[in-house]
Amino acid sequence: MDIAVFSAKPYDRQFLDAANADRRHRLKYFDDPLNAETVDLAAGHRGICVFVNDVADAPVLEALARGGTQLVALRCTGFNNVDLQAAADLGIKVVRVVDYSPNSVAEHAVALLMAVNRKVHRAYNRTRDFNFALDGLMGFDLCGKTVAVIGTGKIGRVFARIMLGFGCNVIGYDAYRSPEFEALGARYADAGEIGANADIVSLHCPLTPQTYHIIGAQTLARAKRGSLLINTSRGGLVDTEAVIDALKSGQLGGLAIDVYEQEAGVFFRDLSGTIVDDDVLQRLMTFPNVIVTGHQAFLTREAVSTICETTLRSITEFETGQPLTNEITAVMERKP
Ligand code: NAD
Repeated sequence: MDIAVFSAKPYDRQFLDAANADRRHRLKYFDDPLNAETVDLAAGHRGICVFVNDVADAPVLEALARGGTQLVALRCTGFNNVDLQAAADLGIKVVRVVDYSPNSVAEHAVALLMAVNRKVHRAYNRTRDFNFALDGLMGFDLCGKTVAVIGTGKIGRVFARIMLGFGCNVIGYDAYRSPEFEALGARYADAGEIGANADIVSLHCPLTPQTYHIIGAQTLARAKRGSLLINTSRGGLVDTEAVIDALKSGQLGGLAIDVYEQEAGVFFRDLSGTIVDDDVLQRLMTFPNVIVTGHQAFLTREAVSTICETTLRSITEFETGQPLTNEITAVMERKP
């Protein structure tokens, strides 16, 4: 089947080609992201393959349908960038990669937490300059601290398990309770308890209308002073301007993010030689207690390999008329 692969990075090409070793599908790679300007590149391809910041809204999907596209294969778990109702109305099927490696994202969340707490980013810069002074590098023991996991699904549960291993007290918040989360030795708490007691809050829920800006001025005002916020899920969960205010006042003790609400057009690109026209991101970068990674939590060999194999398996299912194991529908989007 002919597939137009958008936002194709060298690692995507390497692992997709390996998964397509039998050359069953003809993959055409495009560096560009999918959006209204680039959608015509997909004309004549029965399937397209996209990533987190590609735009598959109603106008783009309409253009895809006109060009003969019948399948959108997401190389990711989150599907907030696809208008599923418009896809259904146009008869376009949408598949994603449900479960590739929750370990990859959870372990990156732990790396961010460790780095922002123990100031590893600052120590790295200092010691490169042979500055071995320790002033300003003090962190706190994780053992005994309370960690709140918002979204206790696959990634949230792995993160919880690791935090329990550090000797933390783990509390969770979710629209649906998971017995597996409680079986780990964690327990559920309400927003009030999380605000009052959590030393660390880590976000692992999807971006939906219900979770948009779940961390905003009100939540931050109720949070424990000096607590740390980790976001490896989706940028839109956090009101970044409210977070900047909380960092300025010291209400928030540190922030480590792998995702950013306005990341499209910025992340996954080398902009080191340009002036980035995003004052919010520029302000974030000035804080010594903020770490930003560019949506790399998924980037392990194991995860990317599974993503590419699952994506090609879904495309083969579609081509051969089999049931789509990883299909997503508009009904799923409406679930909280
Ligand atoms: P999952 O579906 O297994 O878990 C998500 C959990 O969030 C579920 O338990 C669900 O009930 C819960 N949830 C839904 N709505 C909620 C609400 N309103 N309030 C509280 N909880 C709610 O998904 P997962 O595999 O654990 O992935 C979680 C998220 O991680 C994805 O949606 C995606 O946005 C993000 N992600 C990021 C990266 C990255 O590279 N940074 C990679 C993969 C996934």
